[in-house]
Amino acid sequence: MADEEARGAERMEICSELPQTPQRLAAWWDQKVDFYTAFLHHLAQLVPEIYFAEMDPDLEKQEESVQMSIFTPLEWYLFGEDPDICLEKLKHFGAFQLCGKVFKSGETTYSCRDCAIDPTCVLCMDCFQNSVHKNHRYKMHTSTGGGFCDCGDIEAWKTGPFCVNHEPGRAGTIKENSRCPLNEEVIAQARKIFPSVIKYIVEMTIWEEEKELPPELQIRKKNERYYCVLFNDEHHSYDHVIYSLQRALDCELAEAQLHTTAIDREGRRAVKVGGYAACQEAKEDIKSHSENVSQHPLHVEVLHSDIMAHQKFALRLGSWMNKIMSYSSDFRQIFCQACLREEPGSENPCLISRLMLWDAKLYKGARKILHELIFSSFFMEMEYKKLFAMEFVKYYKQLQKEYISDDHDRSISITALSVQMFTVPTLARHLIEEQNVISIITETLLEVLPEYLDRNNKFNFQGYSQDKLGRVYAVICDLKYILISKPTIWTERLRMQFLEGFRSFLKILTCMQGMEEIRRQVGQHIEVDPDWEAAIAIQMQLKNILLMFQEWCACDEELLLVAYKECHKAVMRCSTSFMSSSKTVVQFCGHSLETKSYRVSEDLVSIHLPLSRTLAGLHVRLSRLGAVSRLHEFVSFEDFQVEVLVEYPLRCLVLVAQVVAEMWRRNGLSLISQVFYYQDVKCREEMYDKDIIMLQIGASLMDPNKFLLLVLQRYELAEAFNKTVSTKDQDLIKQYNTLIEEMLQVLIYIVGERYVPGVGNVTKEEVTMREIIHLLCIEPMPHSAVAKNLPENENNETGLENVISKVATFKKPGVSGHGVYELKDESLKDFNMYFYHYSKTQHSKAEHMQKKRRKQENKDEALPPPPPPEFCPAFSKVINLLNCDIMMYILRTVFERAIDTDSNLWTEGMLQMAFHILALGLLEEKQQLQKAPEEEVTFDFYHKASRLDSSAMNIQILLEKLKGIPQLEGQKDMITWLLQMFDTVKRLREKSCLIVATTSGLESIKNDEITHDKEKAERKRKAEAARLHRQKIMAQMSALQKNFIETHKLMYTSEMPGKEDSIMEEESTPAVSDYSRIALGPKRGPTVTEKEVLTCILCQEEQEVKIENNAMVLSACVQKSTALTQHRGKPIELSGETLDPLFMDPDLAYGTYTGSCGHVMHAVCWQKYFEAVQLSSQQRIHVDLFDLESGEYLCPLCKSLCNTVIPIIPLQPQKLNSENADVLAQLLTLAQWIQTVLARISGYNIRHAKGENPIPVFFNQGTGDSAFDFHSILNFGVQSLIKYSNSIKDMVILFATTIYRIGLKVPPDETDPRVPMLTWSTCAFTTQAIENLLGDEGKPLFGALQNRQHNGLKALMQFAVAQRITCPQVLIQKHLVRLLSVVLPNLKSEDTPCLLSIDLFHVLVGAVLAFPSLYWDDTVDLQPSSVSSSYNHLYLFHLITMAHMFQILLTVDTGLPLAQVQEDSEEARSASSFFEEISQYTSGCIGYGIPGWYLWVSLKNGITPYLRCAALFFHYLLGVTPPEELHTNSAEGEYSALCSYLSLPTNLFLLFQEYWDTVRPLLQRWCTDPALINYLKQKNTVVRYPRKRNSLIELPDDYSCLLNQASHFRCPRSSDDERKHPVLCLFCGAILCSQNICCQEIVNGEEVGACIFHALHCGAGVCIFLKIRECRVVLVEGKARGCAYPAPYLDEYGETDPGLKRGNPLHLSRERYRKLHLVWQQHCIIEEIARSQETNQMLFGFNWQLL
Ligand SMILES: [Zn+2]
Ligand SMILES: [Zn+2]
Ligand SMILES: [Zn+2]
Ligand SMILES: [Zn+2]
Ligand SMILES: [Zn+2]
Ligand SMILES: [Zn+2]
Ligand SMILES: [Zn+2]
Repeated sequence: MADEEARGAERMEICSELPQTPQRLAAWWDQKVDFYTAFLHHLAQLVPEIYFAEMDPDLEKQEESVQMSIFTPLEWYLFGEDPDICLEKLKHFGAFQLCGKVFKSGETTYSCRDCAIDPTCVLCMDCFQNSVHKNHRYKMHTSTGGGFCDCGDIEAWKTGPFCVNHEPGRAGTIKENSRCPLNEEVIAQARKIFPSVIKYIVEMTIWEEEKELPPELQIRKKNERYYCVLFNDEHHSYDHVIYSLQRALDCELAEAQLHTTAIDREGRRAVKVGGYAACQEAKEDIKSHSENVSQHPLHVEVLHSDIMAHQKFALRLGSWMNKIMSYSSDFRQIFCQACLREEPGSENPCLISRLMLWDAKLYKGARKILHELIFSSFFMEMEYKKLFAMEFVKYYKQLQKEYISDDHDRSISITALSVQMFTVPTLARHLIEEQNVISIITETLLEVLPEYLDRNNKFNFQGYSQDKLGRVYAVICDLKYILISKPTIWTERLRMQFLEGFRSFLKILTCMQGMEEIRRQVGQHIEVDPDWEAAIAIQMQLKNILLMFQEWCACDEELLLVAYKECHKAVMRCSTSFMSSSKTVVQFCGHSLETKSYRVSEDLVSIHLPLSRTLAGLHVRLSRLGAVSRLHEFVSFEDFQVEVLVEYPLRCLVLVAQVVAEMWRRNGLSLISQVFYYQDVKCREEMYDKDIIMLQIGASLMDPNKFLLLVLQRYELAEAFNKTVSTKDQDLIKQYNTLIEEMLQVLIYIVGERYVPGVGNVTKEEVTMREIIHLLCIEPMPHSAVAKNLPENENNETGLENVISKVATFKKPGVSGHGVYELKDESLKDFNMYFYHYSKTQHSKAEHMQKKRRKQENKDEALPPPPPPEFCPAFSKVINLLNCDIMMYILRTVFERAIDTDSNLWTEGMLQMAFHILALGLLEEKQQLQKAPEEEVTFDFYHKASRLDSSAMNIQILLEKLKGIPQLEGQKDMITWLLQMFDTVKRLREKSCLIVATTSGLESIKNDEITHDKEKAERKRKAEAARLHRQKIMAQMSALQKNFIETHKLMYTSEMPGKEDSIMEEESTPAVSDYSRIALGPKRGPTVTEKEVLTCILCQEEQEVKIENNAMVLSACVQKSTALTQHRGKPIELSGETLDPLFMDPDLAYGTYTGSCGHVMHAVCWQKYFEAVQLSSQQRIHVDLFDLESGEYLCPLCKSLCNTVIPIIPLQPQKLNSENADVLAQLLTLAQWIQTVLARISGYNIRHAKGENPIPVFFNQGTGDSAFDFHSILNFGVQSLIKYSNSIKDMVILFATTIYRIGLKVPPDETDPRVPMLTWSTCAFTTQAIENLLGDEGKPLFGALQNRQHNGLKALMQFAVAQRITCPQVLIQKHLVRLLSVVLPNLKSEDTPCLLSIDLFHVLVGAVLAFPSLYWDDTVDLQPSSVSSSYNHLYLFHLITMAHMFQILLTVDTGLPLAQVQEDSEEARSASSFFEEISQYTSGCIGYGIPGWYLWVSLKNGITPYLRCAALFFHYLLGVTPPEELHTNSAEGEYSALCSYLSLPTNLFLLFQEYWDTVRPLLQRWCTDPALINYLKQKNTVVRYPRKRNSLIELPDDYSCLLNQASHFRCPRSSDDERKHPVLCLFCGAILCSQNICCQEIVNGEEVGACIFHALHCGAGVCIFLKIRECRVVLVEGKARGCAYPAPYLDEYGETDPGLKRGNPLHLSRERYRKLHLVWQQHCIIEEIARSQETNQMLFGFNWQLL
């Protein structure tokens, strides 16, 4: 405090002329006449001093000084009293109606599809969660920054404009009350202060002088302190800036990085301080280092320190202003008034406009604060928002131009604010009426686009800059915003201004009409593909704008007609060249047409015709309004010139046809792409669709024969339809055929496509329904695929949801894949094979699908068109195309050529189209006849088609002939349908004339039916034959497949239930059912072995597995695992150099898991394979897939990631001689066994005492018992050691070394004493992991194992048996003694750990595997006989089990409620009495009064996992068949079966009773261990049994909850508010700051991202994360590997949404999350990553290390 005062005093000295406390300063200001001068004077004194240390500021101190000496006085001055009190008061009135929260980049925004006026209306997270829209159809999106929350804006929402928090009148405050709690004085003060504040902010922000301040601020003596300031740009890369800085400033990398990050964030930064000259030099240096051939130098300035200080403070003052304004609407209004005031007599615009105009010159940090200032003032007050918008529009052109040449992102440009104003309906209307904003925007476009105009005044974007054009799109977007809400009331002025805007817009379209013309390339291929993207991209941008203009025009008839006239005029103006060209005449069937001689294949053609298409759109709307009849009032008949209107769209369609016919091959890919987009859903509405409509207009207004002649002429097919044509040129024939097909298709569309409101009598819903039906006719599709194939309107809606349920049913997804929609049966009838939006492939797929379906349903295969809806009156004449002479001629020609065996000028496809046209004609006539009396129907298709011409056959006869052609078998059904249709129409025609005909008609129907039945039977027979044939082929296929599987993949696994060819040929092998199913002790059952003949997946040769043979191996992967941890996140040793892994901690925090994919190879083959992989990778430059250095490879068969192999060693058969065993039982009690073992150990001890390696043990007592000497252990039966082949031994050593290397993270060393420890450890841990998994899935212990798990465990245990023999036995003995000292009463070694700090299953595995080393002698290699082993196993197991029981009882959780009292049982009594006994030893440390039954239940639950692990272990070690109950899934039977298999009494306490005298000393020892007592005291870290099963963290059902969490996420390391990538660890729930420099860590000298670093501890390098903002799951492993995985969140359509692109509400799928959980628990994460990298090389670009 004293310190602070001193500093304060010091400061006050400098500005001694100023008063010293805030109040007094305020009072002093009060006396001044001119506040502005006084205020500046004050700032001039203080600011340079406070912001002195720009390079290395003490931010806290800075903030404090500013607060103390500037803001607090200002606030006192404003309120006239203590500001804290006053602001507190204001806060209670502060609830305003607008939220106005400004979005930062990356924040989630919500929009309501039901209620938002348009998709730009969004809510912030808080408002959304408190709004009604939470339960509507909402969308989530990630903000790019810059927008703000529209909560409270009644114009933005149809319903529910307020959230709970922003509702007016909330908490009892009445509206007037909340508006004005300020008294007059405060308002007066504000009027005085705010103008000065804003003036200062503006002056300083736009200050350009480098060296001098404005005179008012030049009070202090000027120092010679300058900064070299570096500015951000979007061109230089991060690294380039760092490099330039390092060179120019000669600084460290870290410093350069620091600067660069700050520059990127703030937009500018001082990188050097010093004299002017020094800074100038640094500036030149930086510039020269950052410049190269392709890049401008970085922008650097030298600024005086005082200027820097004032500019910095100006921004801080802006933030202060923001805060003050948030308290009162009056403040905001006063501020806005000050901003808008124009200085009298000055040329300058008002302050806010000056800021706007300066925006493009400002750096990022400054812009952000100024935009926020606008948000929190103008945009919060509707009246002022309007005034601001008017200023904005006033300078619109200039602002946009500056933005276009600016290099900053749009999100930080002032122009990005347009969306906030233009989308407000009333504001938009006002701006159109008052400022003609549409014209202003279009004029801006015309002014910025001229650089792309060619000499014909058409756009040409060759060599355009994508970035620049991208900026132009922003202007186009503004046009969309202005038009987004159609006005409901039209004033005369609005109409006038809109039309003016429309006229201006037509000017742009005029520049596009016919732009980028092309000419067919003949001879040579074009050299460079021209740029086409720009023109198409503009077309895409314009699509909805064009539609909106048409909609606006259609608001009333008058307006529409005027607009039509304008548009028509514009089209005509663009067609002058056409009208002046020369003429030619076409003639057919006595009709002739005079037309211009133009050929698409020779002359220039363009696909850009927005004027023509707009006209077509307006025409359709005219038809919809029923006003076509008034058209001549506006466009006279002679001016209309329909032929001219049709001309250009027709050319465009011909171009498409010629491209399909490959006539434009030499024009390259760009044309193909353009044609693709022309018909693609993104463009087609305003390209292809409108061209078809224009042709329909033509067909409805022209003579049908003339129209068809024109079409023939433009398709260049007049020649091809000449009777005499006879060419042998195959290419030309092919070309003709394609062109004819294309033309027929377009004719089908012209006549048949009536699904546009205005063309046909249909509604919008019907149109969408039809689109959906045709998509689903191809195949069932997920929601997103359907949505993607439907056009979006300006609100990004497709209208899909409203109708899809009418035509399709939703099928839910399974655990993988997605939900799909299937078409309802009743919608199938609407299928039209020639649907005009089908692509070629879609068409043939759909046709194939529908035919297949009909076949399956035993129906005919005819796919006639569905009856089309009626044309609107304006288009009704189109149908005359069908029955005109030329059409008949075309159809007949096609049919005749098909019959003519010599003709090549037809295809089956062409025939099908002709049938389709025929069908359309017949359907039309039928429909008309059904509606009106025969004599009124003038449409005489039937008559024309069946008329006999002099020269040719009629169509009906032609059809009969076609039916007989065998090659056309596939068309037979369709022909039959057509002939029947002819009959039907005929009968309808005759019905009214002939009364008798009715009977004959009936008869003929009957006849029809008979033939129909016959055909049906025939069809059925054929179908049956086909089915049988199919079946046969399927059988063959599956046989082949099976063969393949057997020889390749599952060879090994299919051996499993094979023959049991017992090697042990004992005299009487009892039947399997008689085997004893006990694994331990004297009643041990026999080993069930089988001869194993395995096939190597590499060389495909078979080999029997024998110990003397060359080794066979299983591919395997060893990994560290935290899957079982009870202590997640426990710090891991990054290197295990000094670790002693003999004992496992009971928390199982880090285990070593060995998994296998179960594929077998010869050891030799594998080695060769591995070497080959190594060799090939040396030749490649980078191999990211796997790390060969550490032995990684992909399994040759299944591509799993492996890093070692397990040798396969057969089980050694063992069988007890029951007599021997009985005898031994008498001799070898537990006590005696212990004595024998101790004698052996002490014997070794004495021997080794002389040598160098004594075993460090203490024998408490009984060592002197002479009955047991060193050799007595051998008396109970020995046998000689098994001899393994060298090949097997090598593989054993190799595998053991891998486990050691990975388990400890150390370099390989096969001689390290810890190698066997890790072998045992991985055996134990792998068993535990598999047991846990089985339990988790509720599966039985045996019988449910996957083959790979079964084979892996078997190989692992047998390997472990053999591993001992490859080590020095003394070493094994030493380990064994340490293990035994835990459970042998009289043995204790120095480092025997406390009973509670070890996992006893690990002890069991180690002890059992190491025990045979006690039989080792210098001279002979012995091992225990079967009988001895069985006793060893039994006693070891019993001792360790008792120890484990004790562990469980000590740690029983007594805190649980003892609710259900269970009845007294024998076990419960034993438990009670046992507890009483041991509590004597523990001096009351262990709880009294726990009921016996409770202890028993806890014990039974606690010990089961251990017993299950033991059963697995002994089974795979000994091969004894387990009891049947362990193969089935019964919880009750399991426990007793386990006890029986493991030779335990079901009342486990009986063990203690039986061995009481032997184990009492042990219990005593354990109980008195001080370490144990200590352990028990640390309640929270004690591991209890059963251990808790790990699962992935709980996730909320609603995804937006997670997003909510993420929005509150703050990076722990940095305080800036830049965009973060919060990532959730699914193991532990930690949220991390990913992909950000702030949270990187250094591991072994390498930088790793926060996630990778976290994974190291949380999952031992393996982890599962959820990227919250993107809804993506990622799996990572180690430092450099990872892959994406589908997130468990699905939308209502059963689809995931990576990146939240679609933004539908997402909910948790429990099944999928469970699947992810299993991937983890099965240790398959590494496998998933390897597999996804194999298939998806794309992700390699991602730098996983920095995640
Ligand atoms: Zn909000
Ligand atoms: Zn709100
Ligand atoms: Zn809503
Ligand atoms: Zn082989
Ligand atoms: Zn494999
Ligand atoms: Zn974690
Ligand atoms: Zn961070």
